[in-house]
Amino acid sequence: MNIFELLRKALLYITAAAVGLAGVGIAIATTPLAAQAQSQDQELQMGQEVFNELKAKAEIIESSPLYDQLKPIADAITRAAQPRYNHPFKFYLVHEPQPNAFATPGGNVYVVDSLLYFVKNTDELAGTLCHEVSHTIHHDAMELMEKRQRIAEREIGAAIILGPSTAHVLAIALLGALHSLSYSRDVESRADITGSDVCAAAGYNPWGLVWLFQDFKNAKTEQVPQLLSDHPDNQDRIDALEQHFRKNPSVFKKFNPDPKSASPLVVPDKAPEVFLR
Ligand SMILES: [Zn+2]
Repeated sequence: MNIFELLRKALLYITAAAVGLAGVGIAIATTPLAAQAQSQDQELQMGQEVFNELKAKAEIIESSPLYDQLKPIADAITRAAQPRYNHPFKFYLVHEPQPNAFATPGGNVYVVDSLLYFVKNTDELAGTLCHEVSHTIHHDAMELMEKRQRIAEREIGAAIILGPSTAHVLAIALLGALHSLSYSRDVESRADITGSDVCAAAGYNPWGLVWLFQDFKNAKTEQVPQLLSDHPDNQDRIDALEQHFRKNPSVFKKFNPDPKSASPLVVPDKAPEVFLR
């Protein structure tokens, strides 16, 4: 499916909103799995649109000493994960109200600055980033949008009016979905498992994600990063991870489950930030 078709599909969303069905979801092009190469290009285009949107909102941090903390972790994860995805992974710090991280199709991973202050050690940050990278490897964002599109199509049929601002709308729709914890528990758990494999391969302790879940249990609600706050079923995700570790002792046995063994993440207080404009 080409970008024109993609944009036509996106207009379905506008149409849905116009007829008062905004709640049904976001319309984005269906991508048959067979059209893998084509869909990869589509993923790149989607990712670029979201980047443009974040840049327009002046959220993207162009330079900051915080990158000194992020970069070695991002580089190691990229080396481990890149063979599983055919666009380069790129990590960007962004400034948003909630500590969070999210990945868009096309390889971009966005890390909210305050997440670096929330995590207790390097492995917790690495675990979060490995999880996000795994959503990209699994094409979860695209599948989510396809699912929503099918629902919208069922609701409103296929009346489509072309307009100039479609790509922009598309980016906002995707951003909204990525910020509203739209993934199912199964999709999240799958990203945890692949993420733990990626982290192990990158040399970070895969228990980091488990520790992060445990931190959330003890944190005040308003401090809990949005990426997990809506998931009261974190214990299921912990259980699934621990089971995965037990089943693969050759990979995971060497990692210490005790958070006291982790290296703290040292982050400069109130680090300056220059925004991309
Ligand atoms: Zn996730």
